[in-house]
Amino acid sequence: MTLEELKKKVDLTLADLGVHDEAGVNALFSEARETMNQERQKLVSHSNDPEFPGLVKEFRNLCLARKRGLVARIDENWLKTAPSELRPVVGRAFNNLRVQAEHLYAEESLVRLAQKLREVEAKERPDLTLPGYRRPLGSIHPITRVQREIEDIFLGLGFAIETGPEVETVYYNFDALNIPESHPSRDDWDTLYIDSQTVLRTHTSPVQIRAMEKYGAPLYIVIPGKCYRNDKPDASHSPMFHQMEGLAVDVDITFADLKGTLDFFAKKFFGETARTSFRPSFFPFTEPSGEVYVSCAICDGQGCSVCKQSGWIEVMGCGMVHPQVLRNGGIDPDRYSGWAFGLGIDRFAMMKYGIDDIQLFFQSDLRFLRQF
Ligand SMILES: [Zn+2]
Repeated sequence: MTLEELKKKVDLTLADLGVHDEAGVNALFSEARETMNQERQKLVSHSNDPEFPGLVKEFRNLCLARKRGLVARIDENWLKTAPSELRPVVGRAFNNLRVQAEHLYAEESLVRLAQKLREVEAKERPDLTLPGYRRPLGSIHPITRVQREIEDIFLGLGFAIETGPEVETVYYNFDALNIPESHPSRDDWDTLYIDSQTVLRTHTSPVQIRAMEKYGAPLYIVIPGKCYRNDKPDASHSPMFHQMEGLAVDVDITFADLKGTLDFFAKKFFGETARTSFRPSFFPFTEPSGEVYVSCAICDGQGCSVCKQSGWIEVMGCGMVHPQVLRNGGIDPDRYSGWAFGLGIDRFAMMKYGIDDIQLFFQSDLRFLRQF
């Protein structure tokens, strides 16, 4: 009930209010207590107002004033006029109410509460005069750094970044990419199986199929991410490593587009003097397939120990997307064609920074990581 309703009810007797039994008495008093409680909440919400002390007095009078206070009128009109059989019940309820009212509206208790609220508020507000916490600053991991650098080059060419799950089905990891059951990479020796139909993806290529299914053509994406193979860790192998794939699907896409894009990429990444060379290769998911060589940055193609006197370093695989792979992705190979490439981010980071052991990336040795 509202305060206004309560003010009216305290001028009536229990008989006037139609209260004739214990349940009715308890319900009436509990509503009265609830109303007083709400008034107190309202009062406390004004605890920051300059007129708060005045409001406290006003509410205290409303409740406890000797003649016209709510409690006094309840005493007068509900308790004293109660029929004798209800007297004990009304008396008990009245006492509870009076004690509560005195407590609720006691000036000290309200002032204390308001004080507490102000303290809580002050604690939540930061003290700008205190000195700050000094936390050690980390730096971007070299793998992430190189990954972002490669992403940036392709973002600049209008490619989007797409990612996919690391726990992958055999279908997306092998079948949809034209890798037959008999292919050696499907062997337990090379692939980490979770069960017969689930693997830790051995390359980022499954995302090519997922993206073709999701977006259709035309499609220009790069796919960075972690891959897993059943390899013993050594200076050039890690059971977990990072790949970046690129995929372009559109009408009239040719091998010339692939060569032009990758040559542009190599010059951006390795420097303007870098030259590229494409040599035939084989992958089940591209036809024709090629390996991309970049002129050795150390000797500029003259031949040195790093490039084994050849003047060239192999950096990635590429090719025109196999028509069956396009079909598996829901794209019509008679209308669209595409190219793809795949590179090892870890290897690119090793080349860029002259690192000779891939394990260094994953050992969390701060002496190594602080150099980046
Ligand atoms: Zn060289």
